[in-house]
Amino acid sequence: MTEETQILDTQFDPEDEYRPEPEPEPQAPTWMDGSVRIGIHTSIAGSYLNALESARKLGCNALQIFSASPRMWASGSARIPDTDAAAFRARRVELGLGPLVIHANYLINLAAQQPMLRTRSIQAFHDELVRGISLGADYLVVHPGARGESTAGRAIATIIESVKQAAKRVPLGNLRILIENTAGMGTAVGSTLEEVADLVGGLAELNAGACLDTAHLFAAGYDISSEKGLGQTIEHIEKTIVLDNVPVFHVNDSKIALGGKVDRHEHIGEGKIGVAAFGRILKHPRLSAMPPNGVLGRAFLLETPIDDPGDDRRNIAKVWELAGLEDVAPEAEKGYSMLTNALKKKLVAHKQEVKKRAKAASAAKKRAKSRGKG
Ligand SMILES: [Zn+2]
Ligand SMILES: [Zn+2]
Repeated sequence: MTEETQILDTQFDPEDEYRPEPEPEPQAPTWMDGSVRIGIHTSIAGSYLNALESARKLGCNALQIFSASPRMWASGSARIPDTDAAAFRARRVELGLGPLVIHANYLINLAAQQPMLRTRSIQAFHDELVRGISLGADYLVVHPGARGESTAGRAIATIIESVKQAAKRVPLGNLRILIENTAGMGTAVGSTLEEVADLVGGLAELNAGACLDTAHLFAAGYDISSEKGLGQTIEHIEKTIVLDNVPVFHVNDSKIALGGKVDRHEHIGEGKIGVAAFGRILKHPRLSAMPPNGVLGRAFLLETPIDDPGDDRRNIAKVWELAGLEDVAPEAEKGYSMLTNALKKKLVAHKQEVKKRAKAASAAKKRAKSRGKG
């Protein structure tokens, strides 16, 4: 014991005892002001802060990001340095962006029956939760997973158990897990509203909700392209997931026809769902950001392709316009895009290189095969 602590010990006065301040009344975040929230998936390349600046320059008031590389398992520490996280949270408040949605890694398969992959998925999802909390995210969106040889029922039970394990002893605070519906490619779970509802219901103790993707709904067979189909789908959602549990929509047009069961996003209005349908969706009172008909702070986030520089900005502008809110939309920076001409050149060159290599590899394989025959 040092001299100093000795003095403190002997001079202790019960009146000095620490008394915690009363818990503050939980306050709704400032972005939950009844305004419609519109954003796009932005890149964290270089720095987490870059994602916020991109969202601002594109004319968004909400955004989605990955919190780490989406197609790689994390190597080393999966945590974000405290100073980076604090800078990100502070800048986000300054910009008034919300909600902040994190999309989980694509490799995570919470339905995996194979123990190694399941363990890895639970660990990775746990890391997603920890990073989400440190960035101050509002929602973490995750795909249910692929059931493989398993039945849908067994897969759903596995997913619920996996999420619960990943969230064990994690103080979620304001972070809410959202299960995303899928197009139904391969053995993907969650292409029906019933399956998503079973997952949301099974995770009620964690207050999980759902994120519905328009392209996935359409490819899974829900005809939101027609007025009647949209009405029926909304009723169907009410009877299953319940719209109050859907604070986030992914707004993507679909390259794939109704019920095509493939997940391919298209620019808003240029796909099989169409511009008129997005106007109906974005203006629908049940899908608004204002209770009692809508959900406070409801967000529409784009995951549309960026084929050419400016596609991101144009798709965002289109959504504001179709929502009838172009007059109140935050101003975008003229000419800004996450895809620059230089980056596009690089990407095209990279794609050609990958193709060339694949071609060379298959030619070599053929030669080896024919030599083997001779
Ligand atoms: Zn997704
Ligand atoms: Zn999506």
